[in-house]
Amino acid sequence: MISSNDPHQKVRAEHLKRDAYLYIRQSTLQQVLHNTESTQRQYALKQRAIALGWPTERVNIIDGDQGQSGASATDREGFQKLVAEVGMGHAGIVLGLEVSRLARNCSDWHRLLEICGLTDTLILDEDGLYDPGNFNDRLLLGLKGAMSEAELHVLRARLQGGIRNKARRGELKTPLPVGLAYDSQGKVILDPDKQVQQTLRTFFQIDRREGSALAVVKYFYKNGLDFPQRLRGGVQKGQLVWGPLGHSRAIYALRNPRYAGAFVFGRTRAPKLAGGRQVHKPLPQEEWHTLIPDAHPGYLTWQQYKDNLRMLHACAQAYGHDRRKGPPRQGPALLQGLVVCGVCGRRMTVRYHQRQGNLVVDYLCHHESTQHGQGLCQLISGSGIDKTVGELLLEMVRPVTLELAFAVQEELQARLEEVDQLRRRQMEHARYEAQLARTRFMQVDPNNRLVADTLEADWNDKLRALTETQEQYEQQRQKDRMVLDEASRQKVLALAQDLPRLWHDPNTSDQDRKRMVRLLIEDVTLTKAGQITVQIRFKGGTTQTLHLPIPLTSWQARATSPDVLRQIDQLLESCTDAEIAAEMNRRGCRTGTKLEFTRILVKVIRLRHGLKSRYDRLRERGMLTAVEIAAQIGISTGWVRVWRHRGLLLGYPYNDKGECLYEPVGDNGPTKQLGINLSERRRFPEAQSHVDNEVHHEA
Ligand SMILES: [Zn+2]
Repeated sequence: MISSNDPHQKVRAEHLKRDAYLYIRQSTLQQVLHNTESTQRQYALKQRAIALGWPTERVNIIDGDQGQSGASATDREGFQKLVAEVGMGHAGIVLGLEVSRLARNCSDWHRLLEICGLTDTLILDEDGLYDPGNFNDRLLLGLKGAMSEAELHVLRARLQGGIRNKARRGELKTPLPVGLAYDSQGKVILDPDKQVQQTLRTFFQIDRREGSALAVVKYFYKNGLDFPQRLRGGVQKGQLVWGPLGHSRAIYALRNPRYAGAFVFGRTRAPKLAGGRQVHKPLPQEEWHTLIPDAHPGYLTWQQYKDNLRMLHACAQAYGHDRRKGPPRQGPALLQGLVVCGVCGRRMTVRYHQRQGNLVVDYLCHHESTQHGQGLCQLISGSGIDKTVGELLLEMVRPVTLELAFAVQEELQARLEEVDQLRRRQMEHARYEAQLARTRFMQVDPNNRLVADTLEADWNDKLRALTETQEQYEQQRQKDRMVLDEASRQKVLALAQDLPRLWHDPNTSDQDRKRMVRLLIEDVTLTKAGQITVQIRFKGGTTQTLHLPIPLTSWQARATSPDVLRQIDQLLESCTDAEIAAEMNRRGCRTGTKLEFTRILVKVIRLRHGLKSRYDRLRERGMLTAVEIAAQIGISTGWVRVWRHRGLLLGYPYNDKGECLYEPVGDNGPTKQLGINLSERRRFPEAQSHVDNEVHHEA
C-alpha cells in the first residue's frame, strides 16, 4: 500500500519539532523469545524516522508491552503511555510495525487514530506514512484496523468451530475427573486402579445414604479414608495423589455429570467484564452446549446424578432465602427443616430464645419481612407442637418397632463391611508396594552398592508402611466389632423394645431425635388462626391433622387472671385497697407473678386494668365530700369527722387513711343544735377509729 502523496510532503516542520515514538510489541513471551526477526524489523523503523528528519536522540522507544496480548489495551501500560504522549501533543510521529496491529481491539485503534488526527500526529509503518488529518489516509487506516479485527474473529471462529463440532459429536477429549480415564483408543473407561474405583463407589454410596456432601466428608474423615486426586499440571502431571476429602472436592464430584457417564461440554460461560476480566459462570443444564447421557461408563446412573443435584440444591437452600427441606441440625427444635407455613406455603424457619433459663422454640415465616420489609407472615410458639408431634410419633411407631430396628441393624452391618473392604484394599496396596520394592532390591546387582542401598532403604520404608497399615486395620476391626457387639446391638434392641425411653432419654441428642422424626415425617404444615392447626404428612403419604390451643405468651402467662380481676372489682364496691389485699390473701388468691397481695399491688392492678376506684364509685352513688357536707349543714369539716364518729353522719372510707365520702343528709338530717350532747343525738352506730375501721356499710 502506498500513501497518496510523497512522504516528505507530509512531514512538516511542526512535526519535526516534536518527538518520534516507536512502539514495539510482541503478543506472547514465546514471540519475545523466538520471533527476534520481527523485533529487528521493529527497530529498523527507527532508521526510517531518522531518514525522515528526526534526530536519533529524539526517537523514543516504547517497549513496555512485550509479552502482552494486543486484544485489549487495559493491561498494556506502554500503549496507554503512547496514547498519553500523543494526546498531550508531544509526538510528531508514531512508528510501529504493521500499525494496523498496533491495537487489535477496534475501539483502542480508533481512539489512537482520532487523537493522532486531533494533535496532527503522523503514523508510520512498513507500508508507508499516514496523516490521520488527511481523509484518505484515515479511511485507509480505519480499513486496516477493521480487517485486522475481522482476521482475529475468523481465526477464533475457525478454532472454536472445530472444538464445538467435535464436542457435539462427543469426541472431544476433555480433562476427566479422577476415577475416569482414557484407554489407548481414547475411549472413556473407569480408572483401572481398583482402589480409586472402590473409593469413588464408596463415596457415592455414602452420599446416597447420608444425603449431604458434608456428611460424606465427615464419614471419610472419621474412618481415616483418603480420596484420590490426579495432578493437572506441574512436573508430576497425571500422577495420582491421595489426600483427605475436602468439602469443595466432594461438591465438585457430586455435581460432575461425567461420573454419571454423560459427555458434557460448555457447562460454563465466561463473559467479558468491564476491564477485560473474564469470570466463569455456570449455566443451567438446558443451556449446556452438549449433553450426551450414557456416553461412557460411570459410577452412578443419570437419575442418581439428578437426585444428587436436587439434594445439593435442598441443602444449599437450607441456607438461602427460602429454606427448603434441610438436613437436621443441632438445636432442640424437633421439626426444624420440616415446617411449612400454612398461609403462604413457604418453609418456616426456627428461632430460639431464652425463657426462664430454658431454650424456647418459635417457628416463624419471615420471607416477606426479610425480602420485602413487611411484617412476619406467621410466628408460632413451637414447644407445644414439638411435644405433641413427639407423642404422636411414639404412638405411631409402636407397631413397626421391630422392622425399624432390623433396618437400623442391617444398615450398621452393611456400613461396617464396606469400610472394612476399603481398609483391606489399602492394606493390600501397601503389601503390593512392599513386594515390589523387595523384587527391585533382589534384581539389582549386589556390587552396585549405591543403587542397592537406596533400594534396600525403599524396601524398608515400604515394609514399615505395611506394618502400620496392618496394625491400623486390626485396631479398627476390633473397634468395629466392639461397637457392633456391645453398644450397638444393645441400643438397637433397646430401641426396638422401648423407643419411648430412648426418646425421652436426656442422652439422646436432639439431632438423633430429629433423624428419627425424619424417618417417618415428610413435612408439617402450621396454621395459626384462633387455634394452631398442625397438618402432618407422613413418609407413606398418609396425613394427620391436629388442633392445639395457642399457648400463652410469657406476658400473658404473667398477667393477672381474669378471675382475680373480677373478684377485686367486686370488692372495690365495699373495700379499700388494704382491705381487698387482706381479703384476697384470705381467699388464697395470688397475683399473676405468684405473689401475695399487698395494698400497693392492689392499687397497681387496679390502675393497670382501669378498674374504677372506690372514690369514683362512691361519688357515682351521690356521696359528698367532707367539704360539701360541711357546707350543707353549716359546720366545719373538723366537726364532720366528729359527727361521723358519734354516729350523726354516715361516711364510707375511700382509702386507707380513713378519708371518707358521706351520705347526703335529707330534710330531717342532723342540724347544729348547741348544748345537746352528741351521743344523745346518735342516728347510726358510732364509727370506729379510722386506724382499724372494719365498717361495712352496705347501701
Ligand atoms: Zn408464610
